[in-house]
Order: sequence, then C-alpha cells, then structure tokens
Amino acid sequence: MLFCTQKKCVFFQNVNTLQHIQANLKAGQTTLTNIVEQYLVRIEETQDLNVYVEVFAAEARQRAAELDRKLAETPNQIGRLFGVVLSIKDVLCYKGHKVTAASKILEGFESLYTATAVERLLAEDAIIIGRTNCDQFAMGSTNENSVYGPTLNAADPTKVPGGSSGGSAVSVQADTCLLSLGSDTGGSVRQPAAFCGLVGLKPTYGRISRYGLLAYASSFDQIGIFGKSVEDVALLLEIMAGEDKMDSTSSRKAVEAYAIHTDYTKKAKIAYFDTAINHTSIDPDIRQQTLAFIDRLKADGHRVEAVDFPYLDYIIPAYYVLTTAEASSNLSRYDGIRYGYRHPEAGTLQETYEKSRSEGFSKEVKRRIMLGTFVLSAGYYDAYYAKAQKVRRLIQDKTKEILSEYDFILMPTSPSPAFDLGEKTKDPVAMYLADIYTVQANMTGIPAINLPLGTHKSGLPIGIQLMANMFEEADLLAFSKYIEQLNRQQV
Ligand code: GLN
Repeated sequence: MLFCTQKKCVFFQNVNTLQHIQANLKAGQTTLTNIVEQYLVRIEETQDLNVYVEVFAAEARQRAAELDRKLAETPNQIGRLFGVVLSIKDVLCYKGHKVTAASKILEGFESLYTATAVERLLAEDAIIIGRTNCDQFAMGSTNENSVYGPTLNAADPTKVPGGSSGGSAVSVQADTCLLSLGSDTGGSVRQPAAFCGLVGLKPTYGRISRYGLLAYASSFDQIGIFGKSVEDVALLLEIMAGEDKMDSTSSRKAVEAYAIHTDYTKKAKIAYFDTAINHTSIDPDIRQQTLAFIDRLKADGHRVEAVDFPYLDYIIPAYYVLTTAEASSNLSRYDGIRYGYRHPEAGTLQETYEKSRSEGFSKEVKRRIMLGTFVLSAGYYDAYYAKAQKVRRLIQDKTKEILSEYDFILMPTSPSPAFDLGEKTKDPVAMYLADIYTVQANMTGIPAINLPLGTHKSGLPIGIQLMANMFEEADLLAFSKYIEQLNRQQV
C-alpha cells in the first residue's frame, strides 16, 4: 500500500480492531497517548492526500492523557469505546468546533451544540482526532466539490476516493484513525468505502438521530460508519442508535446488541437484479467478480436468485428530483445573515442574500438549489416533484415485496472502481448516473452496507453491497461478518 512503509504498517496490522487495541491497552502494552501520537504521525505523513480539514491534535492528546489516567485509576469505569480514535465528516456538529460542510458560506461558523451521535460516542470514551474533507453539503460522488480541494485515494493518489464522505473514507484507509463518521444520502458512505476497500454502513433511516447533522435531503439523510472490520462498525452503530428527543424522525425501536449478535449460522435467501448485473454502465471486471461472488455464496449453501426489478433506470432521475427539492429548502437558511459568510460589499438585504449565496456556494450546490427550486415551482410541481414521489413509492413497494421473500438484496456498490481525478467533473449527469446502485437504499430507507470484495484488475479496491429489510441491521451485520470471514479464507 502506498504511504505505508513496512515498518510503519506493523503497528496498524497488529492493532487494527478495537478488540486488539483494548487488549493491548488493558495489558499495559501501549497507552492511548501512544496511539494518538501514532495517528498524528500518520496524519502528518499523509498530508498530501488532503484528508483533514482540521486536526484536533492538542485536544486529542489531552483527552488521551485523561483517559489513560482513568484506566489506571478506575479501570472498571472505562467506556465501551475506550481505545477508539475517530474522525468526523465536516457536516457533523461538535460543540466549540468549526463545521463548514466544505463550503465558503459556513466559513468561520462554530457549532453551538454536539450532534447526538457524536455525543453518544464521546460518552463511551471515544476520542475525536479531527474533521474530514467532503463534497460541499455532501453533494457529490468524488470529494472534488470541496472548498478545500479534493481528497486523494490512498490506494492510488491519481484517483478520487469517492464521495461525498471521501475524507472520512481515506482517514480510515490510510490508518490515521480507527473509525470515521460520514453521512449517506444516496451512497456517500458505501461508495467511498467501495473505492477505498472499507466496510461502510448506512443504517435504516431513523436508526441514528440526525440531530446535529447538517441537512442535505432530510428524508434521505443518515449518519454512516466507516471501518476496517464489521465488528467495530457494529459496535459504533449500537452506541449511536436509538431514539433521540431532538430528532422526531429517530426511531423508538429497541436497539439490538449489534456488536455481539454477529454469528450467522442460517442459510440466507438472497436476491439480485439481472438489470443491475447486466446494466450497460457496469465495468466488466466488476460484473465478473460479482457473479463469481454469487457462485461462492451458492457453493456455501445459500439461495441466491435473480429477481425482476423493473425500476433501476428510474431511481436516479427520481432521486435527483427529490433530493434537490429538499436541498433547495434546507439550504435556504444560509442567507449571509444567520451563519458564517457575509459578502463584505453587500448594501441592501437583497444584495446580501444574492452576493453571499452566489459566492458562498459552489457551482454544484447552486445547480442543485436551482434544480430543486424549479421542480418545486408552481407550474412544474406535478410534472416533476409529485411524479418523483410516485416513483419513490413504486420503488419502495417493490423493494418491500422482494424483502418479504428474501433476507438480502445483493448488488455491486458502484458500477466502476474509483474514477480518475477530474474524470467526471465536467459532466454532472455522468457523475449522478454512477450512483445507480446505492440510492435505492435511501429512497426506501432500508439499511445497506459495502463490504470489500477484492481488487479490480486495475489494482483498485472494489466492493459488494448488501441491503436488508428496515431495522434488520443485526442480521445484515451478522451476514456481513460471515462474508468478511469467507473473503479472508480466499486470500
Ligand atoms: N452522490 C450522491 C449525491 O450527490 C450521494 C450523496 C450523499 O450520499 N450524500 O447526491
């Protein structure tokens, strides 16, 4: 792997899951202070990848020292995430820290409160090492739409890491932290996880509170998790999930013990779509490796069947109508008055709005605000917005029907491996179309996960995606763990 000399990698190869880290800490073989220092060195070494927007070095060191003392003095009181060092995407609020959604319009803005998900992690003794680069307001699939410039893929720095949570993905890929939080509105955790060879989970809509997550499209957004092992991702979910009074869309459903409920002994019933595997946009090697994976599952006794899903080509248009509509409304709050950037030369109120928004948002964000405003406008509402809602319902009904018969839906995560930098920036529609396999889960609210599948013939990582029924994360994660083991046996 690039940016990782043999010597430097030994630490991370041996100590790359929380279980290992905690065992080492408890046995006195290392300290959190030490671990944080190692990560800070990695951050320094990988600066060229442009992963972090801000590193909380002093704070992480101080917290590590405090937690080391806690272990020494009151070992029975350490939290379940003692030993976890994580990064958070620049769309999550963390009190007293800046949050900008990689935009100019939020320049200088500081969070007034902490996102519920982040607060729950801190309460279990996690350490946050910094905030990561992303596409502006989580809109994009490459991390190139950022006021801070693109993040580069650590497997090959001429490639994008995927997006929008590209910085979060690379922060884990390049061993600058153990885990990372991103957000997933249409694939922004799963697709970068696929491009960077990681586990990436988007939970059921409402499973994790969105309080403190800067909104892009509120009926699609979910906080997601990046990690190198299913077990660590499951533990983070378990701790963040659950009802929150501050988010009325958070579910009251009981949180299961995702982290220990991880033995899958059943034979699964899995559906896949011919239309997806044979889509014109799919890379031949990804197609072939997906089919080979299906054969492996069958050989292991699972029932894997092709089912009819006639709506694949309607998913992207409906998604981009609905999400831009929601975004146009959500982003109206950034008016040059209440938050962050205000144009210095604006005279009147109207000028303040116009100039601050024109300069504060990127081209892509403005394109989406305009598109969203258009599809909601009186003359076009029925033709676009209302129609897309109907398509969403059709997709939901069909997905539900399939998942009443099957445990999982299996799909490639992305039709291609990581793109070249700049490859898709001139053609927004080509960029949108690359989301073809990930948006179904957000359109329907179901949980979905990317698991590393192997290596493309170009040498880049590729992933496989599994979706399950609403709130079936326990089963999804258990099966993912089984796949993780299956893949390990192959290597
Ligand atoms: N690429 C998709 C978009 O641009 C997904 C983004 C996301 O999940 N935040 O909308």
